[in-house]
Amino acid sequence: MTVVTRFAPSPTGILHVGNVRTALHNWLWARKHGGRFLLRIDDTDLERSKEEYVDAIRADLGWLGFDVDGEERQSARFALYEAEFAKLKAAGRVYACYETPEELDIRRKILLSRGLPPDYERKPADAPVPDDVAPHWRFRLDHDAAIEWTDLVRGPQHFEPKTMSDPVVRRADGSWLYLLPSVIDDIAMGITHVVRGEDHVSNTATQIQMFAALGASPPAFAHEALLVGTEGKLSKRLGSLGMASLRDEGIEPIALAALLARLGTSDPVEPVTRLAPLIEGIDFARFGRAPARFDEAELALLNQKILHHTDRDAIADRLPAAIDTARWNAIRPNLQTVAEAAEWVAVFDGPFTPTAADEADRAVLAAAAAAAPAIDWSADPWHALTGAVKEATGAKGRALFLPLRRALTGRDHGPDMAELLPLIDKDEAVARLSAA
Ligand code: GLU
Repeated sequence: MTVVTRFAPSPTGILHVGNVRTALHNWLWARKHGGRFLLRIDDTDLERSKEEYVDAIRADLGWLGFDVDGEERQSARFALYEAEFAKLKAAGRVYACYETPEELDIRRKILLSRGLPPDYERKPADAPVPDDVAPHWRFRLDHDAAIEWTDLVRGPQHFEPKTMSDPVVRRADGSWLYLLPSVIDDIAMGITHVVRGEDHVSNTATQIQMFAALGASPPAFAHEALLVGTEGKLSKRLGSLGMASLRDEGIEPIALAALLARLGTSDPVEPVTRLAPLIEGIDFARFGRAPARFDEAELALLNQKILHHTDRDAIADRLPAAIDTARWNAIRPNLQTVAEAAEWVAVFDGPFTPTAADEADRAVLAAAAAAAPAIDWSADPWHALTGAVKEATGAKGRALFLPLRRALTGRDHGPDMAELLPLIDKDEAVARLSAA
């Protein structure tokens, strides 16, 4: 069996960390099993779906490195839904309903006020049919067929169809609700595994009967515990958790993937630089039932850790040419984002604005300016320089290193000076020491 998974976003907004987590797990699962990962644009809601979001979804998946093996769009498949719907209608598995939304609402409220479940009540076969109302359509659950599946995350699941309402699958205006087209597509696309959030568990229960009614066996299901923010629901801050803003903040796609691959599992988050090790590690049995907590601070920290062992080649197109491999290797332990690398160009090559030295540091700097011209820059200039200054002035420790670092880099903190100094032109360094 070839594994086929799908990511099925509705293009009514941009992807945020929650959707991306679902996409990632589907992608990882397909890749782990040498299968196929499909993108399905769930755009049955023509009013709310927007082309710009479709484009953004594709671009974000590309940015994340989740390559897709095919794409389908629900809005191009209405003829198929119509044909399958006709079969279900002929078989009596979908039926017309004439209640108005107000009637349904009143009934629901009455049931709830009596402490009863607000389930839909089927009308008897001979109930009068109003001739001035366009019907909406429900799927007729088979009350005698208990619904069971072994969820890859949640384990054995059991639903009693008698206790469930027949779900609405089509509105009176002919438009489709999500449930049935999704099943029709999952069958047509040969989906073997449906991986999605646990908010879909009760949908799955009804969809399992739809697979059977359409003559197909259901795929395997993995329903994952939802992602929550550090202070509760993610949904409130989805804008800031969209891919565009994470990208703007300098988050690397691999950092996001590394975190989302492990959140909610008992496995540690690892600062990987490639997707390959995450593919190896995906295992739905490792996911717990408790909500997974997404913490932006944790993501930023992981991003930083990953940068510290990212090779220049992997991000060369985003670096100024002046940051060559040696310079990248020197500065990367100090970076929080790739974009910050640009700030170091001036530290290496100028233009450089010297900061006025403290009176106490003058002797150190004068000694450094005097010693520097004779130092062999191709060897280990930092140790030669500090050795000479120490000998001339007796300064040591912070009193020796800090004024030199400030004079040479304009900063109090930064990479190891022994690594940095050979990467600054000797004449430039001498000029900085003399100017300080
Ligand atoms: N379009 C649905 C959603 O975004 C897809 C759910 C599914 O994966 O079946 O919730």
